Amino acid sequence: MSNVLVVADHRRGELRDVSFELLTAGRQVADATGGDLHAAVVSGDVEEFGDQLNREGVDAVHTVANGEEFNHDVYVQATEALAADVDAEFIVLPNSVNGLDYAPAVANRLDRPYVSDVIDAAYDGGVLEATREMYGSKVETTVEVADGPFVVSIRPGEWPAAEGVGDASVEAADVDIDDSQVRSTVTGFEEVGGGDVDIADAEFLVSIGRGIEEEENLELIEALVEATGATMSSSRPIVDNGWLPKNRQVGQSGKQVTPKVYLAIGISGAVQHVAGMKNAETIIAINTDPNAPIFDIADYGIVGDLFDVVPALIEEFGGDAP
Ligand code: FAD
Repeated sequence: MSNVLVVADHRRGELRDVSFELLTAGRQVADATGGDLHAAVVSGDVEEFGDQLNREGVDAVHTVANGEEFNHDVYVQATEALAADVDAEFIVLPNSVNGLDYAPAVANRLDRPYVSDVIDAAYDGGVLEATREMYGSKVETTVEVADGPFVVSIRPGEWPAAEGVGDASVEAADVDIDDSQVRSTVTGFEEVGGGDVDIADAEFLVSIGRGIEEEENLELIEALVEATGATMSSSRPIVDNGWLPKNRQVGQSGKQVTPKVYLAIGISGAVQHVAGMKNAETIIAINTDPNAPIFDIADYGIVGDLFDVVPALIEEFGGDAP
């Protein structure tokens, strides 16, 4: 019997979707091993978060009240202590900015290998088989790790979110954080350009690529965004040109997004872009080139000139094209 510990991810007062995906991934492993699923949250607002994590399939929720926001040293200490406390054989963390910051340190403290960006996992005969992508998502590889504890981080959007209300106990964990070992303090937030928008949380993304040709033409896309209530994101060339801030970039070197709708306008569908959006629920593409790779993964495709199609869409949604 091998217990599983997952540690929730939150930002600016909200649990991130990946926290609930961690519960599903964790339950899957716990079912395979006959162990218990322990969910933990480290935060100032632990009670509310603790209750939210109490979803079906969770055996226990542990809360550690310490600081409003993520802090590397606090999370490393808390995760290590919790893992020992619940006798965790599997430590499953988010492959988010926060998770990537501290998951390797947790593995290091436990003197164990760390497998990042896991998109699928199986456990058989004491061996963890973790699937991850390589070479810009061109190939999938399975990493085998024998003997736990196993430390992995899972890619957001790969497991469905756990649902329903569970009947787990939600309790303050008996974890003491040694403040003398906490080397940084979060004093506040300063958003980079692009405001406080996080495209990873958006339900409807209108994403623009090099087909837009010139920065002035972004005005057209802004009108579509306004008419539809969507959020604007982009491929990398748009960011490289300085037309949109980096936090709007989707893809391998940008953000992973899983919106309900992803509307790709003038985006070819390079592997590095697709790596960041292929798990969108519905993908719609507008492109002049019928052979553009984006059509291979699109649910709906419009072969056409964006300068004809987008104004028609804006009108359809009751907006005004510039
Ligand atoms: P293009 O490939 O130039 O495609 C433009 C598309 O617009 C074409 O398909 C064209 O047919 C269409 N088009 C042109 N005019 C019109 C029109 N009037 N109406 C409709 N369609 C039109 N890219 C990312 O996006 N995100 C990443 O995170 C990322 N990371 C990378 C990491 C590495 C290590 C490397 C090497 C590359 C990375 N890239 C990334 C770049 C990636 O390889 C592609 O170059 C990039 O995604 C192409 O962007 P695009 O589709 O906007 O442009």
